[in-house]
Amino acid sequence: MDVGICKRCGEFEGRCECGKGRILLNSEKRRKVSKFLSGILRHFGEEFGIEVDEEGWARVEDVLRVLKERYGIGRKHLELIVKFDKKERFEIRNGKIRAKYGHSIAVNTAWSEGGDIPAKLYHATSPENFV
Ligand SMILES: [Zn+2]
Repeated sequence: MDVGICKRCGEFEGRCECGKGRILLNSEKRRKVSKFLSGILRHFGEEFGIEVDEEGWARVEDVLRVLKERYGIGRKHLELIVKFDKKERFEIRNGKIRAKYGHSIAVNTAWSEGGDIPAKLYHATSPENFV
């Protein structure tokens, strides 16, 4: 589904109630960007100059730089992707962003909230799956 923002209805997914909201990401682009975001936070951030710490956090600014270069999108787009993600895969806190689960790099999300995800969700993958 598309995501966007409306002066009257606020941030929305699909269509806003008044129908006048502006779409910021159509469903196709949203899907691509989410997939890429998962990739850089879970697997291959390094290839794009993004440092992911041992708890899985990366600086939002770093991620935005890459998203801007690659997809021409900004902070609001990223926030909408995180907010409306069906599986709640991402979280943003204190200027940092991380994937909550599914890493192939060594991180320990159990040190803070969101770490109670069963180990069976962890799997390895390669950058080719995310292009
Ligand atoms: Zn509206």
